Amino acid sequence: MLSAAQLLDELMGRDRNLAPNEKRSNVKWDDESVCRYYLCGFCPAELFTNTRSDLGPCEKIHDENLRKLYEKSSRFMKEGYERDFLRYLQSLLAEVERRIRRGHARLALSQAQQNAGGPGPTGKNEEKTHVLTDKIEDLVEQIEELGSEGRVEEAQGMMKMLGEQLNFAAQEKQMEVCEVCGAFLIVGDAQSRVDDHLMGKQHMGYAKIKSTVEELKVQEQAR
Ligand SMILES: [Zn+2]
Ligand SMILES: [Zn+2]
Repeated sequence: MLSAAQLLDELMGRDRNLAPNEKRSNVKWDDESVCRYYLCGFCPAELFTNTRSDLGPCEKIHDENLRKLYEKSSRFMKEGYERDFLRYLQSLLAEVERRIRRGHARLALSQAQQNAGGPGPTGKNEEKTHVLTDKIEDLVEQIEELGSEGRVEEAQGMMKMLGEQLNFAAQEKQMEVCEVCGAFLIVGDAQSRVDDHLMGKQHMGYAKIKSTVEELKVQEQAR
């Protein structure tokens, strides 16, 4: 929910209380009150409003004119703003990648449980499924542990093993994890729902972050 002040900011601009002749006249692009992410392209805080990825409001000034002034200035790309922007976007990506891995793990577990509990495998097969379920549960636990300790590479290795186990367990794949935003998707869902997802704030936001990270990395290497 927006506060009354934020709502007024949205509607009337942040300098609504200033007299017309002093509006933004003395705010320079390098002022503390100006959002540096916005100067670099966009402010991530604006991507996910009212989604479960909501980053909360940004209190700083987002002003297109100031961005133009920054781009025209002789100090453009010399202040380290782009580097900070890239680091921040990368941290957001790391977070969604964790969410994606957790999603895979959760799916693997529920599918294994379904397979174990559902009709079908009997006798020897049932025993096999139980072993598989235990294995998967074990893997999920280890992955979560590694993840919480920040041992990302090891966790990724485990995820691969989990994927292999999952292929055994999942006779019928009904859900999948979106590799961009981490949302759960229904396999073979109606095209209109697929489109809704692809056009949704959360998916579009992470797609934008991903492509911007790639661009900034290329830029950084070129310098
Ligand atoms: Zn901002
Ligand atoms: Zn998505």
